[in-house]
Amino acid sequence: MKKRIAVLPGDGIGKEVVKGAIEILQAVAERFGHQFYFQYGKIGGEAIDAVGTPLPDETVELCKQSDAVLLGAVGGYKWERQPVHLRPERGLLKIRKDLNLFANLRPTNYYPSLAESSPLRNEVIEGVDMVMVRELTGGLYFGKPSERTKKNGEDAVVDTLFYQRKEMQRVIKLAFELAKTRKGKVTSVDKANVLESSRMWREVAEEVGKEYPEVVLEHMLVDNAAMQMIKKPKQFDVVVTENMFGDILSDEASVLTGSLGMLPSASLSQNGPYLYEPIHGSAPDIEGKNIANPIAMMLSAAMMLRLSFGMNEEAEAVEQAVNQVLDAGYRTPDIMSFAKKKVSTTEMVEEVKATL
Ligand code: ATP
Ligand code: MG
Repeated sequence: MKKRIAVLPGDGIGKEVVKGAIEILQAVAERFGHQFYFQYGKIGGEAIDAVGTPLPDETVELCKQSDAVLLGAVGGYKWERQPVHLRPERGLLKIRKDLNLFANLRPTNYYPSLAESSPLRNEVIEGVDMVMVRELTGGLYFGKPSERTKKNGEDAVVDTLFYQRKEMQRVIKLAFELAKTRKGKVTSVDKANVLESSRMWREVAEEVGKEYPEVVLEHMLVDNAAMQMIKKPKQFDVVVTENMFGDILSDEASVLTGSLGMLPSASLSQNGPYLYEPIHGSAPDIEGKNIANPIAMMLSAAMMLRLSFGMNEEAEAVEQAVNQVLDAGYRTPDIMSFAKKKVSTTEMVEEVKATL
């Protein structure tokens, strides 16, 4: 197959791990006889420095003309004090909106070889297999107004939590579709005892659920969900929730696996292209040291092969290679533990490539 892939390395370790993922994809192309065309675009701090905006139109156009988008990460100390419209993170929010990426999928799996780097007991996490589905283009992150204001002459502030019913429907439907192919359970997370938006969310979940009699629907309040995820994570299959609850819960869920450097994500739209990125950020504290864990980015590329290109065998080959390399004891510093073989970013990529 021939595929066009837009590559947005971004900043910091984003650049380092993207390089690794491309090498893996080239190895896949060679082994399975595909042709992947990589075209590079600017986003984040790099784009601000080059053209004065965190997401140039050219980058958006490039993405729209591609079959899939691979993104590293954006941000860094250099741009932290800039006015809001010149912050790298703006580029990320804008590309989600411009490509209409309404659902962010984050699988959380158990890695036996990493159990020792989890703060949780092995018996609690052994066999964990869940996917967080976070709504990505609505809620507090995009609601207007979002501004400083005054009340009775005193300083005040407002952020708006706004959703249309159809925005809830499409992401909840996607969660049910996913559950159908997995363990058949959807946990819808909300705060329906306090928020009107959550009461509508729960209503929509019930409605959509009626179309999927084979899937079990359960509602959970977000505060309880935060606790259950640590206490009994094995109870979850697909968890679906609105933007901000999902942001918080998916970082929490990452602890179940081990390191931030291990977890991939996929952001989906109605008609594509989808965007794939590791869940970690640009990690400016370790930038340029060749010690970042490239696995989250390589696994994001595997998700791309599966979800955007339907290349299941190819995706599995990458995932298996990663597992074998971990089983063989190779570790970047973030997942290093006693009596393992410490490797750099580039060495880890080499090991996975050789195993492939
Ligand atoms: P963002 O706001 O973009 O999500 P963040 O502030 O949450 O960023 P990260 O950049 O994800 O922060 O980094 C959090 C911590 O995890 C840092 O100490 C960083 O060095 C470490 N870290 C992140 N990704 C990796 C990785 N791939 N390998 C090793 N360490 C990592
Ligand atoms: Mg973060």
